[in-house]
Amino acid sequence: MKSRLAATGVLVLAAWALPYGLGSYTVHVVNIALIYALLALGMGLAMGVSGQINLAQVAFFGVGAYAVAILTTHYGHGFWLSALLAVLATVVTGLFVGVPALRMQSHYLGIVTLGLALGFINWITNAHLTGGADGISGIPVPTLPGVDLSSEYLYYYLEVVVFALALLFGLFVVHTSLGRRLRAMRDDALAAGAMGAEIPFLRMTAFLLASLYGGLAGVLYSGLIRYVAPETFSIGNMFILLAMVIIGGRRSLVGCVVGAVGLTMVREWLSDFSTYAQLGYGVVVVAMVVFAPTGLAGVPARLRTLYARRRAQQPSRAELRPFTPYTVEERSGPDGVLLSVEGVTQQFRGLRALDEVTLAVHRGEIRGVVGPNGSGKTTLFNVISGFYRATAGTVRFADADTTAARPYTLSLTGLARTFQNLRLFGQLTVRENILVALDRTRAHTIWQYALWQPGVLARERRLRARADDILERYGLVDFAEADPSSLPYGIQRRIEIARAMAARPRLLLLDEPAAGLNGEEVQQLIRIVRSIRDSGTTVILIEHNMGLVMSLCEKVTVLSSGKVIAEGTPQEVVSTPEVIEAYLGDSDPAELGLDTPRSAARPEHAQEATP
Ligand code: ADP
Ligand code: MG
Repeated sequence: MKSRLAATGVLVLAAWALPYGLGSYTVHVVNIALIYALLALGMGLAMGVSGQINLAQVAFFGVGAYAVAILTTHYGHGFWLSALLAVLATVVTGLFVGVPALRMQSHYLGIVTLGLALGFINWITNAHLTGGADGISGIPVPTLPGVDLSSEYLYYYLEVVVFALALLFGLFVVHTSLGRRLRAMRDDALAAGAMGAEIPFLRMTAFLLASLYGGLAGVLYSGLIRYVAPETFSIGNMFILLAMVIIGGRRSLVGCVVGAVGLTMVREWLSDFSTYAQLGYGVVVVAMVVFAPTGLAGVPARLRTLYARRRAQQPSRAELRPFTPYTVEERSGPDGVLLSVEGVTQQFRGLRALDEVTLAVHRGEIRGVVGPNGSGKTTLFNVISGFYRATAGTVRFADADTTAARPYTLSLTGLARTFQNLRLFGQLTVRENILVALDRTRAHTIWQYALWQPGVLARERRLRARADDILERYGLVDFAEADPSSLPYGIQRRIEIARAMAARPRLLLLDEPAAGLNGEEVQQLIRIVRSIRDSGTTVILIEHNMGLVMSLCEKVTVLSSGKVIAEGTPQEVVSTPEVIEAYLGDSDPAELGLDTPRSAARPEHAQEATP
């Protein structure tokens, strides 16, 4: 804490003293660098933090700058009023550019945002309002009582203050609830949705942040240069901006700033060789993407993991602490049936993955869902949890029709799930994975970020205390700061269950939780699932391992080719001729546990059938 304070003090002093030793041209370059740093922060927040490819940043910059130019010169408004309106106009533009992100992602989104940026460039180059290729000159000097901002030395201080506030706000966002959700969305939008993150809203937020920073940069630029022309907002500059963010490290805001300031300086040195320089940037960017995809900011972490791997050569399987039962608060709900699936059909082109599936799960049950590979078990979970919209039929959960509900709505009403192929947030720590699920605040509380930051911090403290509790209960304390992919498979499975339970759901869907676990871990899993049920959460469990199903579930539903072929106690279903046939038809009946007794709960006749 003390060292942090000292470092901040040194930075503030350095920022304050910086212009003293510098010539006026260098101060000008620094002023430009700060503007690019603001732009890069916006890019970093959208691309690096939120994973939304945004190639329209230069257009946001342009909207901000041109709006000030037009409002001050054509309409005679004062600089600050124009500045405020310009930022608003940029944010509106940002939300418009963000709309395609609701429908498409990755390179498609890149192409669309680039297309919109090109449209903007075209417009400013040709429109009368924007002065065409000549641009707009004669923007007034921003007025500040007692300070002459026409001096670039003094303008520097204005910029430094805006920049510092913007950086602090960015860091605040990244390290609290909103930023964590944005990062979770970047790592795995599906899983984030299943944890209650309102994905469409978050995607728009990413563009809102990018445009806010772009607008601020545009305002500062117009006040500094007092002249705007299309070449400043060209695709070439968009590329430089992209290079800054990639070289600096898009996932780290400080990295983006370092990239922006560094590249502005380099560009200045190389201004006599601009053609070669452009080529050079291209080469550096390619090299960065290939050899250091996390940019300069990621280098220390990469070195650290390399070192850690070398140390971890000696086999050290972490000891697990016994699991402590977890208590879910009593929830009042409708008596009896918690989930009912009625006549649900899911058609994928020619394939009917679910065929009029009907089942009802009561509160407090541990329901098993079994069936051969490809029988539609995971599809059933996807329909229940809102990932797929059933072709026909209805799903009712907690006494409401949820057939058309989105995953995040279902999550907020008390549904949680795990995934057959683990879907942890890879770039978040184990603690952050849990925190994402713990965070039940609705997206609209984002206003707190602008108006009541102490509220955000207080919530953060509460969440962290609860996360520590969950890490403790699930024996994950030792891994809290670890990156999930570096952990053994069994631990990752357990993290996924802990993450699902963090939301204190009414219903937990477990998709093959025992896959890949060793014998001891399976025993642990059985204890965990029992204690989850005892704590008040209903469980539906897809499992391949019949032994596990036999010892855990009171009732089992058997699927085959998308149809329910049997339902009842484990003893009842294994003796059903259809079930025996379905399993014997499968390539490897042994794998299903029909002939390998695993638990005391195995029915008598099954034991007799075992040679
Ligand atoms: P299970 O989990 O029982 O092994 P799934 O529910 O994953 O089976 O799959 C059931 C069938 O539906 C499979 O034939 C699978 O290929 C198909 N399927 C699942 N999801 C999709 C999808 N999104 N698009 C097309 N086919 C799918
Ligand atoms: Mg499956």
